[in-house]
Amino acid sequence: MDLFPEETRDAANLLKQAVPNMVRHDIPPNPIHYALWYSYAQGHNNELKQRLDRIVSNFAVFPPEAALKLYREYIIQNELEEARGGQQQVIDVVDDLEHEVTRSLDDSKHYEKSLKHGLEVLHEPVMDELPTVLEELLDSTYAMQEQQEKFLYRLQAAQAEVQYLRNQLKKTQMAASLDALTQVFNRFSFNRFLEQALAEKHPSAALIMLDLDHFKAFNDQYGHVLGDRVLQTVAQMLREQTPSNAICARYGGEEFAIILNPCGNLNEAQALAETLRAKLQSLRVKVRNTDKTLDNITASFGVALAQPGDSLDNLIHRADQDLYRAKRNGRNRVSGPGNQRKPSS
Ligand code: GH3
Ligand code: MG
Ligand code: MG
Repeated sequence: MDLFPEETRDAANLLKQAVPNMVRHDIPPNPIHYALWYSYAQGHNNELKQRLDRIVSNFAVFPPEAALKLYREYIIQNELEEARGGQQQVIDVVDDLEHEVTRSLDDSKHYEKSLKHGLEVLHEPVMDELPTVLEELLDSTYAMQEQQEKFLYRLQAAQAEVQYLRNQLKKTQMAASLDALTQVFNRFSFNRFLEQALAEKHPSAALIMLDLDHFKAFNDQYGHVLGDRVLQTVAQMLREQTPSNAICARYGGEEFAIILNPCGNLNEAQALAETLRAKLQSLRVKVRNTDKTLDNITASFGVALAQPGDSLDNLIHRADQDLYRAKRNGRNRVSGPGNQRKPSS
C-alpha cells in the first residue's frame, strides 16, 4: 500500500495544514514529526490521529520517544511487514538447506558404512598371496575413505552453522514481535494475532483490554522510572497468569490486551479478567533502595466476545467501551453485563 499517494499539489496542501498544527503545539520540525503530522492531516488513520491528539493534550513538550514509537507503529509498519516476509523467505531457504545437508549427511554416513564393510571384506584372506591388483584396490579404497571422512566433517560443520543461523533468525524474529520494555507481545503482533483469530470461519475469540488506573498521577508522584518498573511487573504477572489458550500484549502506554482463543463464552473471559484484576491489586512493587512497597496499583478491564463478521476495529471498540464503562463506574473493576459492582477485595 502506498502511504503517501497524493499528487504534488494535494501533498503541498496537506503540508500547509500539518505545519501550523506543529507550530501550534510546539512540535520540533524534524522528518519524523513531518511524517506524523502529514498523516494526521491526511486523516486516513483515525487511531493515529487520536493518539496524537491525546499526546498533545497530555504533554507540554511532545516526548521524542513517543514520536518515534508512533512513527514505527504507523508509518513504517508496512515496510516492517515486507521485511518480515523477506525474513520468512530466508528462514525457508535455511530450512531447505538444512534438509539437504542432513540428507547428504545421511547418504554420506551410509556410504561410509558400506566402504568400511568393503574394506573388511578386502582384508579377508582370499588367497595365500594377495595379488597386486587387490593391493592397489585396497590403497585406492583407503584414499576414498579418507576423502569421505573429510567430506563428512565439512557437512557436519555446515549443519552446525545452518542450525546457528536458524536460531539467530528465530531470535531476531522473536525480538521484533515483543515490546521492548515489558517483553510481552507488541501492538503489531497483537494486531496479527487478532486478525488471525477473526479470520477463522467461526471466530471464538474473546478480547480483554485493561488500562492502569490513574497512572499519570502515579508517574507524577513516583517518576517515570518507577512507572516503567510497574509496567514490567504488571506485564510479567499477566504473562504468568494467562492460560495456554491466551496471549498477552502491550496495546499502548499503560494499556494491555489479552486475546483468548478459543474462548467458550463471555463468562470465561470475564472470570479471567476478574482473576487478573485481583492479582494486579495484590501486586506489591518495591521501591528500590528503600523499605517502601507500593500497593495502589489497579486497573479497569473491558471484555468483548468476537462476533461473526467482526473487524479488528469493531471488536477492539466494544472492549474499549466496556473498559471505559468500568472507569466511569469507579475503576478497579471488570465491566460487562452483570458485573458492574465494585469488587469487595
Ligand atoms: P485513567 O485511570 O483514566 O486511565 O487515568 P490515567 O492517568 O491512567 O490515564 P491517562 O491516559 O491520562 O494517562 C496515562 C499515563 O500513562 C500517561 C503517561 O504518563 C503514562 N504512560 C504511558 N506510557 C508510559 C510508559 O511507557 N512508561 C511510563 N512510566 N508511563 C507511561
Ligand atoms: Mg490509557
Ligand atoms: Mg490509565
